[in-house]
Amino acid sequence: MIDIIDAWLSLGAARLHDQARALTALDQAIGDGDHGTNMDRGFTAVAAMIAAGPAEGDTELAQAAARLRSSGRTLISTVGGAAGPLYGTALLRASSAVAAAPHGTRTATIMLDALEAAIGGIQGLGKSAPGEKTMLDALAPALSAGRVADAAGQEPEAIGRAVADAADAGAASTIPMLATKGRASYLGERSIGHQDPGATSSALLLRALADVIAQDAS
Ligand code: ADP
Ligand code: MG
Repeated sequence: MIDIIDAWLSLGAARLHDQARALTALDQAIGDGDHGTNMDRGFTAVAAMIAAGPAEGDTELAQAAARLRSSGRTLISTVGGAAGPLYGTALLRASSAVAAAPHGTRTATIMLDALEAAIGGIQGLGKSAPGEKTMLDALAPALSAGRVADAAGQEPEAIGRAVADAADAGAASTIPMLATKGRASYLGERSIGHQDPGATSSALLLRALADVIAQDAS
């Protein structure tokens, strides 16, 4: 599992770097135009930390939890704006969920439990819920789709794909939404008609995870 986490965070960092301009353009439309640079800065620091050495821990799960924890801390300390603390808290909560996983739990189930904990962390810090045109509108449907696929006994690769597809659809679903949280809410009705940058970066990160899981399976 630590291999998947490291590969995911590294691939996510590379894709956020490639998409930084596009994410910033989305944030220019309904925010302050810094989401791409924010995410790029934070995940570049995370990728550098991964490149610097292996995560500590006696077991793979402990190592994965340690990596998620240090990545969350890195995002909180390097990213200004709303997204840094929100994504950072999400990773800290994901870390706790991984650390608490009972021995023998399926990896896919642990990862979905981690996603659920991450969403809870974002909702708590952001005082937000799905339907408000935020990253939650990508993450929450992704979790639901993943739970359905996991309960149906699907393979990790198919679960990952279901999660990423639902996140993409969720990000697109923010276009007609009225923003009621974050900077975009200052625009009121003018926030309608634009895709939320945070939902877009969340979908990007979950696609990177699905791709890493698919690679792991092949
Ligand atoms: P800032 O808004 O401080 O400039 P970013 O541009 O990096 O920070 O991130 C903006 C994104 O953060 C939004 O697109 C939205 O998805 C997310 N966001 C903002 N506020 C909240 C909140 N209260 N709950 C959940 N997500 C939020
Ligand atoms: Mg911004």
